[in-house]
Amino acid sequence: VTALFETATYIWINVNIATMDSNVTSQGDFDTGYGVLLNQAVAIVDDCICAIVPMQQYIKPSTDITIIDAKGRWLTPSFIDAHTHLVYAGNRADEFEQRLQGASYQELAKRGGGILSTVNATRKASLIELIENSQPRLDALIREGVSCVEIKSGYGLTIEDELKMLRAAKALGANNQVRVSTTLLAAHSIPPEYANNPDGYIDLICDELIPAAVAQSLVDAVDVFCEQIAFSAQQCERVFIAAKKHGLAVKGHMEQLTNQHGSQLAARFNALSVDHLEWLDEEGVQAISDSGTVATLLPGAFYFLRETKVPPIELLRSYQVPIAIATDLNPGSSPIASIRLVMQMACTLFRLTPSESLAGVTRNGAKALGLSESIGQIKVGMQADMLLWDIESPAQLCYQFGMNELVQKIFAGKVCDV
Ligand SMILES: [Zn+2]
Repeated sequence: VTALFETATYIWINVNIATMDSNVTSQGDFDTGYGVLLNQAVAIVDDCICAIVPMQQYIKPSTDITIIDAKGRWLTPSFIDAHTHLVYAGNRADEFEQRLQGASYQELAKRGGGILSTVNATRKASLIELIENSQPRLDALIREGVSCVEIKSGYGLTIEDELKMLRAAKALGANNQVRVSTTLLAAHSIPPEYANNPDGYIDLICDELIPAAVAQSLVDAVDVFCEQIAFSAQQCERVFIAAKKHGLAVKGHMEQLTNQHGSQLAARFNALSVDHLEWLDEEGVQAISDSGTVATLLPGAFYFLRETKVPPIELLRSYQVPIAIATDLNPGSSPIASIRLVMQMACTLFRLTPSESLAGVTRNGAKALGLSESIGQIKVGMQADMLLWDIESPAQLCYQFGMNELVQKIFAGKVCDV
């Protein structure tokens, strides 16, 4: 261990850690879900965590290494936002205002509102404009400590416009200190061109769009919206078959407004995650428990749509389904560029414990993206993606909102004060 500290690139001493490692039993009086280790020394070498030891066992290295005295502050893994639609053009503030002035959904649709207004704006935008429009939303997430974000397409709904959205997401990843995971969500909404032929649109996705996205290395996973107002379970199944044929992981917007049994379908394809889940029943919970699929909860959309049916949290707990929490950042149902706010909402609206909420944006967020082996926990061998907080307990991260107690960010071993 001494040798590991001798060859480190950075060392933190006198630091408390919410490791979020489920094999660590919390020290002190802390909820064991945090995997708390108190008064530790942590070393990283390049982009990797190489040693974690109690201060009693730490010997100051003889070599010239940057040593940071954390003075009892806390390290957590960096946050992972595993479900966003943050690449889009325009916004829907006018529509929000008109609805609050009494306009009905039908009236708004007639005036060109709803998802199609975002589709029109996104189609009109150039790649550069799309990147510029999306950058401030990504900045807001990064400021709060997000170091990995999933970004979906789904507002292009043509081959070229869906690929343009994925290119914008990739460019945002390349231009910023953040890992970006890209998801093709062409099966988000039926495009106007296919209003009378949704199966023809599914053909286009399966036969042309998925192969093109794979050929251009633009996509990590494929998503669908399985709902009465979107696509049937049968149509989603065709998309999943095409995705698997091309070696891509799948996931789905499932059971948000009604129970379409999309979660059972997703489980049969070993989906990474099923997301929303307000209407999920016990059979669905059983199915995703068996397939090791993550349940991703999106309290921001629940709040913004003023939903009242809460996802089946007790069932998810009793079947030990890993729960992720994400912003669902999008212009229609969750214009919320704050991971801290949704961490708090997961507790206040869904009654998750703060340790479950924190696990939702770290360890389980990583699992929802298939990245469990490298990020989401503070553990030897993991990527050095960590946040240093001026807090007294990790529960503070879910308890208070509007404060930013972040003092230092470590991304892939690079350290910056904030
Ligand atoms: Zn979504």
